[in-house]
Amino acid sequence: MVAASADEGTNSLMEGPDEHGRFGRFGGRFVPETLVPACAELEDAFRSAWADDGFRAEFHSLLTDYAGRPSPLTDCVNLSTELGFRILLKREDLNHTGSHKINNVLGQTLLAKRMGKSRIVAETGAGQHGVATATAAAYFGQECVVYMGEVDIARQALNVYRMQLLGAEVRPARSGSRTLKDAVNEAMREWVASVESSYYCLGSVMGPHPYPWMVREFHRTIGREAFDQSTALLDGGLPDVVVACIGGGSNAVGIFSGFVDTDVELVGVEPAGGAAVARGVPGVVHGSMSFLMQDEFGQVQEAQSVSAGLDYPGVGPEHAFLADVGRARYEAVTDSEVLDAFELLSRTEGIIPALEPAHGLAWMIRARDELAGKTVLLNLSGRGDKDVAQVQAIRQGDPAALDTVDFSRTNGDAV
Ligand SMILES: *Cc1c(COP(=O)(O)O)cnc(C)c1O
Repeated sequence: MVAASADEGTNSLMEGPDEHGRFGRFGGRFVPETLVPACAELEDAFRSAWADDGFRAEFHSLLTDYAGRPSPLTDCVNLSTELGFRILLKREDLNHTGSHKINNVLGQTLLAKRMGKSRIVAETGAGQHGVATATAAAYFGQECVVYMGEVDIARQALNVYRMQLLGAEVRPARSGSRTLKDAVNEAMREWVASVESSYYCLGSVMGPHPYPWMVREFHRTIGREAFDQSTALLDGGLPDVVVACIGGGSNAVGIFSGFVDTDVELVGVEPAGGAAVARGVPGVVHGSMSFLMQDEFGQVQEAQSVSAGLDYPGVGPEHAFLADVGRARYEAVTDSEVLDAFELLSRTEGIIPALEPAHGLAWMIRARDELAGKTVLLNLSGRGDKDVAQVQAIRQGDPAALDTVDFSRTNGDAV
């Protein structure tokens, strides 16, 4: 494996990836022969759409009029006093459907419409990306098929019903461990089989080129807004540190993109049980080269976290690149730190966060000495309504509530 050289430093969030979809030595397109034409067609379509002012204007008005953007920036006076540094929150929790995910699915379903594809195929783990995709497909009047592992379907009755309510068909993935990675495989198979009419809507900055690039572009609005809002609030200044949680890495790439060309420190926070960047090794998963958790035999390891939304063994290739060149730093926090952070933000600011961004806050609490006197911007990627029952059960001492297999994956999603 060659190390990323200095001249690959230009291959950054603003410039990259290269024409092969590589971020330094990561990314690319590692797919079976049958998927190559579909990826190439998608790349061409996205390239032309993204160069078209009309497409961008339509996307922008969807973000404004349907998703409710721009999301506000909240200056947290109480929490700042408590922790000894200034905390700003980028409020992605206030978007329609309750997280940043809506940016990506609106971009992709709009692209599908432009490509003349009337049928959307998606994968989902615990259901959040499936629900977001079904929402956008309903808006556009598109047929929507969501693959979901049989095991996840059994655990996620409410999200399955939500998707059905939104008009989507939920299809069980019955192979392998019957969870997220099997749902991805089934969705990709279905995409190839019906590529004339179908569009594959992937849920994070992962998968084969052009997905990591395209999904980043659809989330770039988070970073652009946050940059403008910070400079307005801080009289032309910037925060010292920008923090985001990492599942596949899309909300983090979105907010990092606004600050990557500045001196602001970038910190990605993973669950200790799924620390792909902090403790993973290079490898190929779901079509691109990145860091992932492997066992001693090179098999992809199951991730474990109280937050199902971060329960993914790999991470998007751009994060592997940013870690490799030292532009971003990656930290891991434990479930117990996350639960404390979840409660602290609720109590001090009246904002119940999703368990995923509570990871970011958990690291900030741990690093409070290092952060003393600084200004820290946290991407609050989603709201916590979906996690309240789980946290209550954990706090009431239900051991199953912490068990990732039986209960903790009932809310949230990996991709
Ligand atoms: C899905 C989800 C995540 C994890 O996905 P990324 O691609 O890493 O952003 C994080 N936060 C929330 C609220 C989510 O729903």
